[in-house]
Amino acid sequence: MSAATVRKALLPGATLGVMGGGQLGRMFVHAAQQAGYFTAVLDPDADSPAGRVSHHHVHADYLDGDGLARLSRLADAITTEFENVPARALASLAGDRPVAPGADAVSIAQDRIREKAHFVSCGVACAPYAVIETAEQLAAVGDYLLPGILKTASLGYDGKGQQRVTTRGELGAAWAAAGQVPCVLEKKLDLAFECSVIVARGQDGSAVHFQPQRNLHRDGILAVTEAHDEALPAPAAQQAVASALAIAHGLKYVGVLCVEFFVLQDGSLVVNEMAPRPHNSGHCTIDACDFSQFDLQVRTLAGLPLVTPRQHSPAIMLNLLGELWLTRGAKPVEPDWPAVLALPGAQLHLYGKLEARAGRKMGHLNITGPSVAAVRDTAAKAAAVLGLPSPFAA
Ligand code: ATP
Ligand code: MG
Repeated sequence: MSAATVRKALLPGATLGVMGGGQLGRMFVHAAQQAGYFTAVLDPDADSPAGRVSHHHVHADYLDGDGLARLSRLADAITTEFENVPARALASLAGDRPVAPGADAVSIAQDRIREKAHFVSCGVACAPYAVIETAEQLAAVGDYLLPGILKTASLGYDGKGQQRVTTRGELGAAWAAAGQVPCVLEKKLDLAFECSVIVARGQDGSAVHFQPQRNLHRDGILAVTEAHDEALPAPAAQQAVASALAIAHGLKYVGVLCVEFFVLQDGSLVVNEMAPRPHNSGHCTIDACDFSQFDLQVRTLAGLPLVTPRQHSPAIMLNLLGELWLTRGAKPVEPDWPAVLALPGAQLHLYGKLEARAGRKMGHLNITGPSVAAVRDTAAKAAAVLGLPSPFAA
């Protein structure tokens, strides 16, 4: 959108809509309501975390024409919280209402093949990879990509849709097991650590970002995020920010975008993937910054000014997965929240999910404090109380 076609800001009192009713939608709804907006959520699940706290809940599948029409009547502008919302649902909404991010950007993020091509076009390096859509491409894969990780081009999250392969035989079997759908084979890199940058870009092309955060994954799922000045070396942080901004500008992106990176043992940085929405690794911003990633999602959607967020406290986030409820006997048992909440600066965020399942994101614990040493100490204590491994060991 050029500056000349920038639309008028939607002021508080308007209704902001969101496709998807998970925890990200719920935190968007909280931020929107706090700023004085009404909210509408479209999600097929009657008990969705966001649907339960929104003024309006359109109970429908993402491609249901009547449901989309209802959302469009209720909401003055619409965003998405769920990466796999069909891009054509967003495209159809965009005929009636401002939609941010746009269907084009979302569809690129939904397809690892197009996503990597976009990164390369922005001059940002990604892991060496090959596209595998045909048996010929499978046969032509270079040995230098092994050992590697075969990833389905679409519909992967939390490590789903990924298979680690060491030999050509395993690669062939893995592609067959994936149903011969379009995939990318990525070389398995020797990671020093992972980090991410959250960018918010407005319809006028202005962009702001949070400082990069360091992420620890376990079993393909984010476990711990550290957001403070000592979380990563300055050169990696600077390069990550420059790359994330280039990727957002290259997409003419409007909204909040998270770009995830690998930092290799030699200190070099490669981009992993992007999420066209706020991200689990940005949850610290709720308690550690003057504006959270969800506040910025509201601002980009409403067309309000973007102000650089200021982080006022070092922070560490611990993800709270369903296992925490399931380890003490046959029936789910609530973790010892009073013991956790007795720790200084520990803020509990639970998503209102009715059933704990292994690997399911139930909530997160944000820990802020006066110094990096203090938040590290509290995070270690919180992990011990919860029975989690040390937050600082893979
Ligand atoms: P999500 O969207 O939830 O972040 P995903 O299923 O899309 O996850 P990726 O981000 O591609 O998956 O990979 C999940 C994790 O697996 C990464 O965060 C990293 O720890 C590891 N991983 C992925 N690709 C590579 C690679 N090429 N080399 C080494 N480790 C990798
Ligand atoms: Mg990822």
